[in-house]
Amino acid sequence: MKSSNEVTVTSSPKTINTLVKDIEDVLLNGAKGVSRDKIQNFGNLVANTMYDRLNETKKVFSLRLSNIGSPCVRKLWLDRWVLDGKEPLRASTKLKFLFGDLIELLVLFLADLTGHDVRDQQKERRLHGILGHSDVTLDGQLVDAKSASSFSFNKFKHALKKEDDSFGYLGQLGAYHASSQDDEGVLDKDKASFLVVDKQHGHITLDTHEFNHDEIDWEKAISERVSVVNNPDVMPDRAFPEIEDGYVHKETKQLIINGNKKLGVNCSYCDQKGNCYGNIRVFLSSKGPVFFTHVVKEPRMKEASWQDYINPPAEILEELVDTVD
Ligand code: SF4
Repeated sequence: MKSSNEVTVTSSPKTINTLVKDIEDVLLNGAKGVSRDKIQNFGNLVANTMYDRLNETKKVFSLRLSNIGSPCVRKLWLDRWVLDGKEPLRASTKLKFLFGDLIELLVLFLADLTGHDVRDQQKERRLHGILGHSDVTLDGQLVDAKSASSFSFNKFKHALKKEDDSFGYLGQLGAYHASSQDDEGVLDKDKASFLVVDKQHGHITLDTHEFNHDEIDWEKAISERVSVVNNPDVMPDRAFPEIEDGYVHKETKQLIINGNKKLGVNCSYCDQKGNCYGNIRVFLSSKGPVFFTHVVKEPRMKEASWQDYINPPAEILEELVDTVD
């Protein structure tokens, strides 16, 4: 693995198109002759990541390349100005994030063992004043490594679509790619990829996207977002509407609404939903919590108080499992 300050680019005999198959070959057949030093380097990377995570202090909000493409600017605004009432991360969520970090390091280590050109991990990038760190450059292409549930993995496997991109990953990748246009190590100026691992089943996929940065005025887009987020007087509108509650008619397959309104997937996952709505009622279904903003017909589910949702007692903790990831 090469360090970020090496700028000499040597052509690799491998191309990124064979990456997934080559990683699978290493998993099936091993990497004969791999040096202990190489494996020790991977161990050091894991140790550094663990050290950083375990020493993390509460971060002050800032706009970064990782959040600039967030689909909800209201969420960014709330993170900037309203910290009271933001949901704390649960231990299970923190473990999930840590596990994800380790999987991402692992897949890049395996990529390195294949002989593909792996360089510039966590390289600092800047785009019109916004700072970030891209995951890696692989065979001259900018790559974002991700771990995902099987549900999310399938979206990448079939090429992530804008309408399915609840967390703004395409905007994030586009911003990193735009920031790497002058980087001599990033040879592919038109495409960037997600290298995704299904953390439940161990499948791997490479999801490549084209970006035409001439068509995007990044400077304007970023300065508009910065001024909206930095204006304390105006809370931006919600990015996602509430959805109708009801049941699907057996024969017509139509949704028969009951007048209740609840949060959709994006808002259910948002840790600022309490501040965004202020009057949420939490009900516990077998698939996880359902968040109602308007109730005219009492749901036939057990209700949890907002306080119990934020700081769950043991008896309801299991019912607060996440449904998707
Ligand atoms: S609850 Fe939904 S609309 Fe409100 S800030 Fe969060 S993501 Fe945006």
